[in-house]
This record gives sequence, C-alpha cells and structure tokens, in this order.
Amino acid sequence: MENRDFVYINGTWRPATTGRSIPVENPATEAVIATVPEASTEDVDAAVMAARTAFEQWSGTAVAERVRLLRALREQIVLRHAEIAETITAEMGAPRWISTRIQAALPATVVGAYADLLEGYEFEERSGDTLIVREPAGVVGAITPWNYPLHQITNKLAPALAAGCTIVIKPSELTPLSAFLLIDACEAAGIPPGVVNLVTGYGKGVGEALASHPGLDVFSFTGSVATGARVAELAAQNITRVTLELGGKSANIILDDADLSVAVKVGMANAFLNSGQTCTAWTRMLIPASQYEEAVDLAVNYAKGYVVGDPLDEKTKLGPVSSGAQRDKIRGLINTAVTEGARVVAGGPDAPAGMGVGYFVRPTVLADVAPDSTIAQQEVFGPVLSLLSYKDDDDAVAIANNSMYGLHGGVWSKDENRAIAVARRLRTGTVDINGAKYNPMAPFGGYKKSGIGREMGAAGLEEFLEIKSVGLR
Ligand code: ADP
Repeated sequence: MENRDFVYINGTWRPATTGRSIPVENPATEAVIATVPEASTEDVDAAVMAARTAFEQWSGTAVAERVRLLRALREQIVLRHAEIAETITAEMGAPRWISTRIQAALPATVVGAYADLLEGYEFEERSGDTLIVREPAGVVGAITPWNYPLHQITNKLAPALAAGCTIVIKPSELTPLSAFLLIDACEAAGIPPGVVNLVTGYGKGVGEALASHPGLDVFSFTGSVATGARVAELAAQNITRVTLELGGKSANIILDDADLSVAVKVGMANAFLNSGQTCTAWTRMLIPASQYEEAVDLAVNYAKGYVVGDPLDEKTKLGPVSSGAQRDKIRGLINTAVTEGARVVAGGPDAPAGMGVGYFVRPTVLADVAPDSTIAQQEVFGPVLSLLSYKDDDDAVAIANNSMYGLHGGVWSKDENRAIAVARRLRTGTVDINGAKYNPMAPFGGYKKSGIGREMGAAGLEEFLEIKSVGLR
C-alpha cells in the first residue's frame, strides 16, 4: 500500500500541521503497510471552516445537480472497486470474497440508492396554512469505525450530500486507507471543494476535536457505546444534534416450526460474517428446548466449514480480527464464558493451529449459555456464537429483550404472520425474518443503548435536514 501523506481540506491535499503520521497495520501479517497523517486541532478547525464556507453554495444547489453528482460519485467508486477491495483486505483483514462482494460493493450501492431517493423526495409540504420546508442542516462531523471501513463512511456521506450538507470525515485510525480512495472518487466526480473533507488521526485527539467542534450542526458517530456516550457528551456542549449507531447483541429466534437446519446454517453465517465484526451479528441463537441438542449438532457440523486463514487465499472464510487488542478481548470473553458455565462445542480461546502471526481467532460456538451471563450480554465483535434454549415464544421474546442493546434481531418460522408477531415484540430497530435480503433503503438504527437516530432511507436523509414551518395567511 502507498503512504498517504496529506489530509484533504477545502479541495486541497495538505500535510497535517503536526508533521506526524500514524502507522496502519495489516492484521493478518502484523506488518505496517502504510502511514497516514495525524491531523491536529488546527487541521480540524480548517476542515470545519472549509465545510462552513462550502455550505453557503452547496446547500443551494439544485436537487438535480446533487443527484447528478451522487451518480458521478457512484461511478467513480465502481471504477475503483478492485483497489478499494484490496485496500480493505489489507487494512482490516476481510477475506477477498467479503471485500469484493460486500465491503467495496455496498458503498456504491448506498450512494446510488440515495441518488434515486433524492430524485423523488418531497422537501416541502403543506399542513393547513403552513408551508413545511425541509432544509439542509449544515455542517456534518462524521466519525466511523473499522469493521466496514468505507460502508460506514458512505452511510453518512451519501445522505449528508443528498440533503445539501457538507461534511468532515474522521475514519478509524485502524482503517483510514480506503477513505482516501473515497476522497479520490469525490474529486474525480467533481464534488466542489470544501463539501467533503478528510482528517485522519486518533480518537482522543482528532476525534474529540471534531466531536466538540462548535462549527458542526450535526454529529454522526458509529462505534462503541462507551465512545458514543463520550462524543455525545462533547457534542452536547454545543447543542449539536447527534446520530449514534452503537453496538448490538442480536438474538436470532428460531421458532419451533422453522426449518432448523437452514436456520442454524444461515444464523451461523450471519454471526461469523466479517469474523463476527458486524454490529448486527446474530450472536445469540435462541433454540426451542425440544430441538436444542439437534441444533447443537448442526452447529458443530457447520462450524467445520469455517476455514480461518490468509485473507488473500480464496478458500478462506474468516480472516483475522482487526487488532491485537480485539483478539485478546475476544479470547478473554470466551474464557469468561467457560468460567460461567458455557460449553465450548467448536473452536475455543487458543490461536488456530500453526497461526502464530496475525490476529486470528477460531470460530467458536458456545452451548448452554445462560441469558444473564457475560457472553450473552456483552458485544464480542469476534467469531463467537452463543446457543441458548427457550421454553416457548414468550420466553424467547423475554430472553431476546434481556439486553441493554436493541439493534437487530432475527426470527425463523414457516408461518410469516407468526414471525411478524414475534418481530413486533422485539425492542430492536431492525428484524429480519427467515434471512431477509439486505435493503439499502431500509432505515437502520437502534433502540436502547444501540443508539439514537436512523441511517439509510428517508429517515437517514432526515437526520441531515432541519424542518422549518412557514405560516401563511
Ligand atoms: P470500536 O473501534 O470498538 O468501534 P470506538 O468507538 O473506539 O470503537 O471507535 C470508533 C471511532 O471512534 C474511531 O474512529 C475512533 O478513532 C473514534 N474514537 C475513539 N475514541 C474517541 C473519542 N474519545 N472521541 C472521539 N472519537 C473517538
């Protein structure tokens, strides 16, 4: 990978005023693959200032022009697809199949979907004698995590630009390289200077400078609950509106009339996707007590198909997790689960055989997990699936809702109405029935500690709009 020596402010590449850079490591090899600038508070100021100035013009651009530019951006992302996939594999270890089919593909899908949505969106309506106008909210600060490095950014960038807002982006220090390719795409698409700005650096420095900046109108964050609480507190000092997409501990409820074999198979694939580093991962599989042992056997069998290894190898299903700290945390949680009475039926806390280098974790299945135990309550962000048993539908709903999180859930049944009835009782922002397909325009977000606000769809656009009522007579 190439070093990226400059931050992007007001349409210009310039060095960070600190003169320092930060290393980016490949978690499969533990080698430093490139460096990016460590921006300063002054760089953040300059970026927010540039976004403020650019907002004057950009907020008044015709909708048709914003649609055109979003489509041009989509095309530029598509042109860079292979390079983006390769970069994401290098910076966070996603196997090639995930990088090409998901990591590098979804950003273009989302940008395109927002262009389509914008084309038909009604910014104005009448209510009696009042004209209700939705206006661009202003300057957006965006801080994103490392699990889907580019998708997390475009989930904010696309609706912000569609709304007529300008943006300052701070990607995760673990995975900043793909963000530079997005900026290259923005430039090539002809997005005007100052509309999109990129500053890189650590959370405590650049991240806090951005979250606490008085020049922001909206602050949009995706990451952990602890950091979400911290940045929301910083943004609150300026009464800046926040959108928070935080963690999850999603329950996948297999009802007693479901096809057990399919439900276990797809449920496991969901839990292990991206080495379990997906906030919607179905990490708690809820199985009827009468079918529990059969489900455990199925899970043990399917787990054998999850080959851990070099993300560049086509056979690899699971790459490393993103960092050494993450690996250690996951291993610790598996050990705690065992101490608290869980049974390891596949994988385990030790390193995969013959893999001394790289942050690899064995895909692990835990049976007999108690609903209140640490592993059933804490987000793991690793390839660890917990199997829980339940008595009846009421019990399943109670166990599913026994969580501080409320991001996502799953329900499996041959009877769609029965599944929908269970889905309605889950205190979560999204639920998929029988392994529903990804819809880029379905609003996405959490109840409880999983967050505030929504991304995607019209609800996601509206996070970046202010509502003005104009009374007439
Ligand atoms: P994770 O890496 O577990 O998703 P974080 O919430 O720590 O969790 O990281 C998400 C993003 O938040 C990253 O871009 C990181 O740099 C940033 N970040 C971390 N700590 C802070 C902080 N105190 N203030 C602002 N941003 C932060």
